[in-house]
Amino acid sequence: MFPTAHYAMGGIPTNIETEVLQDNDTVVPGLFAAGEVACVSVHGSNRLGTNSLLDINVFGKRAGIAAAEYAKTAQFVELPENPVAYTTELLDIARNGNGDEKVAQIRKELQDTMDANMQVFRTADTLNQVLRDIASFEERYKRINVQDKGKRFNLDLLEAVELGFLLELAKVMTVAALHREESRGGHFREDFPDRDDEKFMKHSMAYKDDHAPADGSAESIAGIRLATKPVVFTRYEPMVRKY
Ligand SMILES: Cc1cc2nc3c(=O)[nH]c(=O)nc-3n(C[C@H](O)[C@H](O)[C@H](O)COP(=O)(O)OP(=O)(O)OC[C@H]3O[C@@H](n4cnc5c(N)ncnc54)[C@H](O)[C@@H]3O)c2cc1C
Repeated sequence: MFPTAHYAMGGIPTNIETEVLQDNDTVVPGLFAAGEVACVSVHGSNRLGTNSLLDINVFGKRAGIAAAEYAKTAQFVELPENPVAYTTELLDIARNGNGDEKVAQIRKELQDTMDANMQVFRTADTLNQVLRDIASFEERYKRINVQDKGKRFNLDLLEAVELGFLLELAKVMTVAALHREESRGGHFREDFPDRDDEKFMKHSMAYKDDHAPADGSAESIAGIRLATKPVVFTRYEPMVRKY
């Protein structure tokens, strides 16, 4: 028996119209997110006990209305020269993988280290351990072996591609957790047990940036650049959480 995930605190930033943000101010035209995948930045509309179903009712409805409005006037956007190139290449690389590494084995080891070192209670040491592990998984991922070479209903291939995404996402989450030297919500840093509103009352934003130097600084680790987005609060001031 293994406990399964109860809830994914998704991190796709959106505004209150559920439009996906590509940075603090710019929306991605025509892309909407609501529910577990989204971070709408309205207090409670992500993870507080019970709130998830309210969240999907409210923001799912808003997403439907906003998407229908958008569709009324949206024009087709111009496509790049070879729009499928990225995906074809991604699939070909995975499908032609003929190395000595098994996808299921790397995924299991990723789960193990995330479970042991990137669970709710973390320290800089455990987070750095995860980053070292991910770096070695990324190396091994280059040598995966996908046995099913078929082009239809290829679950072997699907899992291989998915693992690439999991590695990327695990790294983003860990880098953000390492940078956040405080404890808040589902992120408890045993080496920084207090909430620090002065430094961290803000959202963590992570950008894929191939030019970000892998210099080990918390803000920029191997292809990920971290930035922040302000937290806006109005009538209700944040208080210390106590029971
Ligand atoms: C055991 C359990 C108990 C819970 N109890 C409560 C509770 O008491 N109160 C509460 O508020 N919340 C509760 N939750 C949480 C709540 O049920 C979920 O957060 C909510 O249902 C998530 O809705 P969603 O629409 O964001 O995601 P989902 O319901 O997961 O919907 C995502 C959909 O996308 C589909 N999909 C995935 N990938 C693709 C793809 N590539 N292409 C097309 N489709 C895709 C999936 O098949 C799925 O239908 C509970 C969750 C669990 C697991």
